[in-house]
Amino acid sequence: MISIAIDGPSGSGKSSISKCLAKKLNFVSVDTGALYRSIAYYFFKNNIDYNLENNVSESLKNIVIDVKYNNNNQFVFLNNENITGNIRSDEVSMISSQISSMPCVRKYLLSLQRNIALKNNIIMDGRDIGTVVLPNADVKFFLTASPKSRAQRRYEQLLKKCPNITFYEVWKNINERDFNDMHRKIAPLKPAKDAIIFDNSRYTFDESVSYILKKIKERINFETK
Ligand code: C5P
Repeated sequence: MISIAIDGPSGSGKSSISKCLAKKLNFVSVDTGALYRSIAYYFFKNNIDYNLENNVSESLKNIVIDVKYNNNNQFVFLNNENITGNIRSDEVSMISSQISSMPCVRKYLLSLQRNIALKNNIIMDGRDIGTVVLPNADVKFFLTASPKSRAQRRYEQLLKKCPNITFYEVWKNINERDFNDMHRKIAPLKPAKDAIIFDNSRYTFDESVSYILKKIKERINFETK
């Protein structure tokens, strides 16, 4: 099986680029942020305190996360309920950032992520894919972009769903999450030593996809669609 790891901060384009690449390569695109968001959604929906790791660890016993793929789309299930459309709010983003620093949560999701990679050719995106989840991935990328361009991209995505959201709210949310992700003790956001670092601030989406595809093809030999 071939695995490609794409890590990077929020709004760096990882998920949309991964999805597009997966289509071209006929791979499965695994958005691991959605898994952290699904756990966060459990706490949000049930109004359960997620500040203490003991509580979170206990709650994990009541949580079953499942992922399914159809036509290059990922669907996440929380206790058999399809919650794919419910996990993108700002509240869920902030909870996911907080619980993702807890070892019990990371441990819980590690085997799920590795099992998907065992069964499929994948492009997996997240924060610790190249460093922790798939340290032997065939090609690793670390995508980044300036905080302003990342916030602008997220803002444009979120506006469709939340017309009242402001650029400042999005910018603040992104900065807080990045700070948490980079400074946590376990699996912090950082490039793997062997990752190709790509700042795509000045690249269009299509240019970014082409650049990454070129790098993948330089390292792996196969046909694209
Ligand atoms: O990528 P996305 O913004 O959906 O991720 C939501 C949160 O999940 C991130 O802010 C991060 O805290 C956490 N996450 C993580 N490790 C990953 C993927 C996401 O810690 N591999």
